[in-house]
Amino acid sequence: MVGLVIVSHSAKLAEGVAEMARGMAGPDVRLAATGGLALPDRPLGTDAELILQAVEQVYSDDGVVVLMDLGSAVLSAEMALEQLAPERRKRVFLSDAPLVEGALAAAVQARLGNSVEQVLAEARAALAPKGVHLGPHLGPGLAPGGLAETTPNAQAELQPGAEHLAPGGAAHSPDEATQSGQRQIVLAVCNRLGLHARPAAQFAQTAGRFAGTKIQVVNLANQRGPANATSTIALAILEIRHGNTIQVTATGPQADAALAALANDNFGDEEQPATATAQPATAPQVAGGRVPPAPQAAADAGDTPFWQGLAASPGIALGPARLLRATVPDVPTHLATDPEAEWQKLVAALDATRKQIEATGQAVARRADAYAAAIFEAHRLFLDDEALLAPARRAIYADKLNAAAAWQRAVDSVAADYRALDDPYLRARAVDVTDVGRQVLVNLLGGERLAPDVGEPGILIAADLAPADTAHLDPQRVLGIAAAYGGPTSHSAILARTFGIPAVLGLGETVLTLAEGTPVLLDGDTGRVWPNPAPALRADYERRAAAARAAEATARGASSGTAITRDGRRVEVFANIGSSADARAAVEAGAEGVGLFRTEFLFLDRRTAPDEDEQFAAYRAAAEALGQRPLTIRTLDVGGDKPLPYVDMGQEANPFLGWRAIRLCLAQPDFFKVQLRAIVRAAAEFPIRVMFPMIAVLSEWRAARALLGEAMSELRQRGLAVPEKIETGIMVEIPAAALRAEPFAAEVDFFSIGTNDLTQYTLAAERGNSRVAGLSDALQPAVLELIRLTVEGAHRHGRWAGVCGELAGDPLAMPVLVGLGVDELSMNGPAIPRAKQIIRGLNYGAERARAPGILELDAAEDVRAALAN
Ligand code: PEP
Ligand code: MG
Repeated sequence: MVGLVIVSHSAKLAEGVAEMARGMAGPDVRLAATGGLALPDRPLGTDAELILQAVEQVYSDDGVVVLMDLGSAVLSAEMALEQLAPERRKRVFLSDAPLVEGALAAAVQARLGNSVEQVLAEARAALAPKGVHLGPHLGPGLAPGGLAETTPNAQAELQPGAEHLAPGGAAHSPDEATQSGQRQIVLAVCNRLGLHARPAAQFAQTAGRFAGTKIQVVNLANQRGPANATSTIALAILEIRHGNTIQVTATGPQADAALAALANDNFGDEEQPATATAQPATAPQVAGGRVPPAPQAAADAGDTPFWQGLAASPGIALGPARLLRATVPDVPTHLATDPEAEWQKLVAALDATRKQIEATGQAVARRADAYAAAIFEAHRLFLDDEALLAPARRAIYADKLNAAAAWQRAVDSVAADYRALDDPYLRARAVDVTDVGRQVLVNLLGGERLAPDVGEPGILIAADLAPADTAHLDPQRVLGIAAAYGGPTSHSAILARTFGIPAVLGLGETVLTLAEGTPVLLDGDTGRVWPNPAPALRADYERRAAAARAAEATARGASSGTAITRDGRRVEVFANIGSSADARAAVEAGAEGVGLFRTEFLFLDRRTAPDEDEQFAAYRAAAEALGQRPLTIRTLDVGGDKPLPYVDMGQEANPFLGWRAIRLCLAQPDFFKVQLRAIVRAAAEFPIRVMFPMIAVLSEWRAARALLGEAMSELRQRGLAVPEKIETGIMVEIPAAALRAEPFAAEVDFFSIGTNDLTQYTLAAERGNSRVAGLSDALQPAVLELIRLTVEGAHRHGRWAGVCGELAGDPLAMPVLVGLGVDELSMNGPAIPRAKQIIRGLNYGAERARAPGILELDAAEDVRAALAN
């Protein structure tokens, strides 16, 4: 590594510059500072002997660059050089660069491992950004210093996607410019939201490809900058908006190539039309129905603009916008004695966070698209951003803070910079920084992931919610959810319904521009969201919400009894749960049992799988909450949108069609049997059923049942109580199983139809992808036909068949499901009172007679229309 020597008349000044350079480039840079004379009471002056010692101290064959302040410093440095051995003298260079700017630039280049020539060139050009920045203020006749004109060739090579305006003035001749490799262009920013998070990340990544070339950006519209082009954060803080022009200066061997690349990539943004303003509303939607996936501004009959998304969880919510905020763990404040150890801890936590963010990004890309997932790429880039790393490094090495406190200080400061910006979209990015910062802290301090914190009660605004995030939401504070991505059968939507939180998903990124505290009205039945609702609209919705609460209270009053149709057919109404707390709430809502316990929520979002005892305790707690009501435990269903961090699932092009659920469990029998043993132990005390997910072929069912048998024998060998028989069934959620219902029914005890997956696999339309939400409708006649086959197959063998997909809780669907002979409907707890009310009002004979006609209809829309009448 090239060594640097800072020479000043003042030892304090030299040391201060050295400290800044270390802060910028890191503690590993080879740097020596010298100033003053080696005599008492002579603090000012320069001493050739001291300079010689400093040079020897940092010397290597890579070379040494000496930066000096003025006058005798130069003479003393020259004298020092003369005293060096001739072969060393050839590798030591005196720089005419400005001391402070030059030292910082040189330190960065040296730390990057660049050659002594590059370090010299970079130091020499270090005043250029200041010149660009001060251009208009430099005074008459003074052009910005150190800037080279864009060569005609370079201009000709640059492609559309950016407009090239007049370059800045030149102080050096083109030849000098070529020597220092400095180039400059001006670009017009055409992206709709300007250089917001993703384009900034894209820009920084492109710039980062040209290691050894220093690229800086100035926003000419507000004169902010220069900013390091490889820092997403530094770029964001320039507040580059649509229509601004930016000046990009590149210095180094690949300056031309770097500028051409930056000009060409259009900042990675898709061409997007300007946001629509008020437009006619889309067709009114029925409850639980699907809406067209393109979110847009529209207006209701009263001309109040609203955003249209996907109705994901019913109900009305009114409250201030609360941007998803991470809970920050308690950060220790002690000073650390070993800065290097603290730095290494931080580096390890950054690595762990990088892996987690990459995994989340991949999961989102599977559910949405690569463009949506790029937001996680922007998050990942924060972890490599010098705007965060440099202050953290400084706080560890210079201020001796522990790693967590140093990191938190850097995050707080960057988040404050974001919050100070004028642009509301960029201001909202403070949340991204704190979120990433929190993840690093959790990795640094240990402990489990913490629930997202919304602060005061309000409507949660989020890009996307991982199922694990939604699982931790507090319904007392989250009055509603408005998210940019996701669809109605995504697991986050299912959880929102379980908690009774109204939700609208798939609203698009516009929802992320809402400022914290903005009043929001959200209608989870129609998928509409109004920012700043007009008083009349608010009043109208408050009336509707009051009426809905009254109806809910009436339904709840009668929800404890059974649900028997007017002509005497009993339909069991069960609940879907993810925890024992859900089980308690479900019983209060009138659940007669649990038809689906999604056990994967015990496994997600932790570093290791729960052991047998922990699982046993969880199953036992859920069973206990149900009294002696039946509890159907579904074995682990991970993969798809529920990755397990501690099981390597590899890369799959189509994870929903890949190694998930029972496939993964059968491939790892020892892992699977831990869960089976825990279930069997709980089944010794409570009426527990076992249900295997994602069964496609008979051999899977048989293999799973055999493992359950092994688990029972193992427990018997341990001398533990084991029930004589456990009722065991399968989920029918793959068309192959529905089509072969009869042979399955000869062997299983029951079927539970998972309409969420059954729909996605029948229609080949991914359940969380808002763009295919119109297709992915469980009321498609093809799906109803598979339900019919399954129920009939079960009944022919004296088995029962339930539905536990989201369709079971859709009031519109209940008549047809009852008509098809479904024995059990299992749904989110809050839907139970109304479901019982509806079933009690049905005539089974009439619905049975009506069902075949409904199955003959052409499309889901026709089915909805028929059922709505
Ligand atoms: C289903 O697929 O319908 C189902 C109930 O299972 P999950 O939603 O958990 O995939
Ligand atoms: Mg499923």
